[in-house]
Amino acid sequence: MQLKSMRVFLEDKEPQESGPPVHCSEPGCNKATRHSKPHCCDHIKQMTYVKNVEGELQRREKEKRQLTKERRLGKKSHLVGEALAVLWEHQKVTAPGLTRHIDLSHQQSTVLLRSLAKHGYVTLRRNKRGVLTATACFGEQLPNRDLP
Ligand SMILES: [Zn+2]
Repeated sequence: MQLKSMRVFLEDKEPQESGPPVHCSEPGCNKATRHSKPHCCDHIKQMTYVKNVEGELQRREKEKRQLTKERRLGKKSHLVGEALAVLWEHQKVTAPGLTRHIDLSHQQSTVLLRSLAKHGYVTLRRNKRGVLTATACFGEQLPNRDLP
């Protein structure tokens, strides 16, 4: 799960302190930092970039829950963008195949491909073995998701 790996990233565990201790440069905060970084862990977590990454990961988890409930995703959703990138590269992908590119269950992957079909980005078909397969309706150019 992404949020977990993010936390691991923030809670750097390697004790490789070297040089004199550095203290957080945020006004009013005097906590020692790790690896001579300019900010303590608490203040790193408050940075806009880190908050944005966390926000994106939360948005992605929310979209996955939507897929689990069989709800199709809107054009501008994060996972639709990721699936389009996979299709742009491969032109064709099966529901199980998509789970090798995006961390989804088979069922979530199926609903995601149906979302793409609903927006006209792919055509769906079952292959000889009955596996749902999406074929891109676009070539070199990724579809413009800002268009209505
Ligand atoms: Zn601090």
